[in-house]
Amino acid sequence: MNCTLLLVGTELLNGATLDTNSIYMAEELNKYGIGINYKLTVGDSLNKIVDAITFGKENSDLVIMSGGLGPTDDDLTKTAVSKYLNKKLLVDSDELNELKEKFKERGITFLNKNLKEVEKPEGAVSIKNDVGMAPAFFIDGIVGFPGVPRELKNMFPKFLKMYSEEMNLNIDPIYVKDLLTVGIPESILEEKIKSLFKDPNIEYEFLIKDYGIIVRMQSKMSNKNTVEKIKEKIYNIIGDCIFGEDNERLETKVVNLLSEKNYSISVAESCSGGMLAEKLISVPGISKIFKEGIVSYSNEAKINRLNIEEKRIDEYGAVSKEIAKDMLDGLNSDVAISITGFAGPTGGTEEKPVGRVYIGIKVKDKIVIFEHNFKGDRNRVRAKAVLQSLFELCKILEEDE
Ligand code: ATP
Repeated sequence: MNCTLLLVGTELLNGATLDTNSIYMAEELNKYGIGINYKLTVGDSLNKIVDAITFGKENSDLVIMSGGLGPTDDDLTKTAVSKYLNKKLLVDSDELNELKEKFKERGITFLNKNLKEVEKPEGAVSIKNDVGMAPAFFIDGIVGFPGVPRELKNMFPKFLKMYSEEMNLNIDPIYVKDLLTVGIPESILEEKIKSLFKDPNIEYEFLIKDYGIIVRMQSKMSNKNTVEKIKEKIYNIIGDCIFGEDNERLETKVVNLLSEKNYSISVAESCSGGMLAEKLISVPGISKIFKEGIVSYSNEAKINRLNIEEKRIDEYGAVSKEIAKDMLDGLNSDVAISITGFAGPTGGTEEKPVGRVYIGIKVKDKIVIFEHNFKGDRNRVRAKAVLQSLFELCKILEEDE
């Protein structure tokens, strides 16, 4: 069983609205094992929507549309479906009464053009919209939902349940396994593990996310054991770079480890400028352990806030392992992280180029300073430094067990 997603709306083509509906729908479809053959985006043009429906119908079992169910002239989805199927658009009197009732409840005047919201191609089944006006409709392998994400989310699960029952779908959900890595470039990662990617029933991908580089394997649930076996082999090769799976995030892992040990944490940041504190503080429950985050960006701040001797900065430079260590010394907690580096695009030297970052980690009496050369623009370097610092701390805390 497969489908085509058809996103309708000029605003999706001109960049005014980011299509998030298809991401949501893909996740829901995974649960039913319905694959996506194509994802098409089309503007508010009747002929183009009809063309896209025709393509979707010719190339998949089901066409799932979102957008264009509203009352305005540019809402053309139902007109396009009725044109494609050569069926009239009709209004069900019960649905019209229900719609008028909704307008009354919300104190909005019902205009003649609002009638359009309950029109549907002759013979179509409606799916009740509990949170908005226009119901979704389903007819002859074509289903249409409003573009408003909240409304789509209200009706999409109901439709999938109904559809799978009606089609007697033998549900083999899609199984997704994400291995989350840090500290190894994508190209090297691929070199190391690509020999394991031979099974044609499994899709393999590398995804670069702000929480790490992800090795994704996707297959039918019936292949789960094969995926798990490959996963173990991946661990044997690059296990030291994997910090978790699926929805795990480094900052959450760090906060959990610190909370278990009842360790307080402080951070002193130069080039990362508060990004590390922000990541940690995004985790609920951090208040019990987070003491302070100091953005000691200038030399003056390093001297005044962290008590670093000026002559040490003159001698070693603010971007140095010595100053990363001094930044740790200026904090007072069980665990501390310091970050100092050249995020660029200017500021590097021949000896210490842009991308050079020193990360200091202190856990009780143990202090380690790491030197890294990160690639990428200013914000990539900053984000990589933050991720790497959390990863290093995680490893030390786990060894500490
Ligand atoms: P309405 O009854 O509100 O007019 P509609 O079905 O006509 O609903 P659209 O007008 O196409 O839907 O879109 C309504 C709003 O929903 C858009 O302004 C946009 O904010 C959001 N939206 C539409 N399509 C998408 C999409 N693919 N992803 C995320 N948001 C979307």
